[in-house]
Amino acid sequence: LDPNEYVAKTFERIRKHEGKIKAFITIRDEQNILNEVKQSIKVNGRLSGVLIAIKDNISTKGIRTTCASRTLDNYVPPYDATVISKLKSEGAVIIGKTNMDEFAMGSTTETSYYGPTRNPWDVTRTPGGSSGGSASALAAGYVELALGSDTGGSIRTPASFTSTYGLKPSYGTVSRYGLVAYANSLEQIGPMAKNSSDLALLFSVIAGNDNKDATTINFNSPYPVSEVSIKGLKVGVLLDVMNNSDPEVRSIVRDFLNKMASEGAVIGETELGMVDYVLPTYYIIAMSEASSNLSRYDGVRYGYSTDAEGNWKEVFSKNRGEGFGREVKRRILLGSFILSAGYYEQFYIRALKTRRLIRDSIERLFGKYDVLVSPTSPVLPPKIGEVIDDPVKMYAMDIATVTSNLAAIPSLSLPAGFYNGLPVGVQFMGRYLSDTLLMGISLFMENVT
Ligand code: GLN
Repeated sequence: LDPNEYVAKTFERIRKHEGKIKAFITIRDEQNILNEVKQSIKVNGRLSGVLIAIKDNISTKGIRTTCASRTLDNYVPPYDATVISKLKSEGAVIIGKTNMDEFAMGSTTETSYYGPTRNPWDVTRTPGGSSGGSASALAAGYVELALGSDTGGSIRTPASFTSTYGLKPSYGTVSRYGLVAYANSLEQIGPMAKNSSDLALLFSVIAGNDNKDATTINFNSPYPVSEVSIKGLKVGVLLDVMNNSDPEVRSIVRDFLNKMASEGAVIGETELGMVDYVLPTYYIIAMSEASSNLSRYDGVRYGYSTDAEGNWKEVFSKNRGEGFGREVKRRILLGSFILSAGYYEQFYIRALKTRRLIRDSIERLFGKYDVLVSPTSPVLPPKIGEVIDDPVKMYAMDIATVTSNLAAIPSLSLPAGFYNGLPVGVQFMGRYLSDTLLMGISLFMENVT
């Protein structure tokens, strides 16, 4: 495609739909992008001249990076995240920064300081979150590739709600250097795309060891990823997660499983076992880590400043009081409470122990099954405003997704079908470092459905 035409077409689409969708927080200048695309197609990279949308919690040198928070409203990072350097060295061109829940805390992209992103399939509904801007940018046809981050489902839920593909990679396969931290022990940057092949390409570009992130490991993801025939694949359906899902969602996932069975997969029924514990465990750990990570936004070292006069406590409270939104404050308060003397053992230590039990029980299931399957989300995409005032309802949307973050294993969401015009995603979890297998299965199923 001619660069002029490619960039012009892309911006035409954005101008037409973005007023409604609001996938981006920041869109770069069209002329600058065109120049970069022209430069980049001259070099031989795997993503030469390809436009990509980046979630706004990933540091981009010279491009505002807000985390959808007032506290970082005018923050321009002086450096690139490792994933961004990798993308650039393969010739990708950043088109802009996508909307998200504030500091990635949420499941609907509604906690953003800049207002909600809408689902291109039905603009009265949310695209899921927190990487909802990236997912909507894909579904609206702006771009073919996007990056998200996933702490407890933030790549997979939006993928599911927008009929796109998203991978939460095995912990340690992708560098978190330059990712604004929410909950370090749980989160990974990951690829989002409109098909399995692009997903695998993007993953192979961003994966790998990084000496700026000590938690990374040496991992090479092959591309092109080969289709995995699912004949004989041992698939464990997580009935307890299924039973926590709405019947509409369940029926689409059942249909998908029947297709897998007719392709020769061996479908067995099993249970996660600790399904009542995964959400409390996840939220206790996530909020604890969040309260610690967010202490740096005091308006002095980092973040929004009110220029208030007074003693440290007064200034600090005012800066943080105005800089953060409700959901972020709720988590800082709960996280600080959980970590305080007297409650630390009762909540935090107990959650760490439960996390270990959940990992062990998953480990046992992989003795019997190659992959574990469930709906990605227990519900259809909610209407804008439907869950945002009910945190417990919002947290419950993560029932299927948080387990793989707790267990450090890979998990992929792919489109299973539609219910009344609304996308439904199916989620696969695999053994640690089986990311390539999951993408191979995804590719196979994409070609038969
Ligand atoms: N909804 C979950 C949360 O709010 C997950 C978000 C995420 O993965 N960043 O913590």
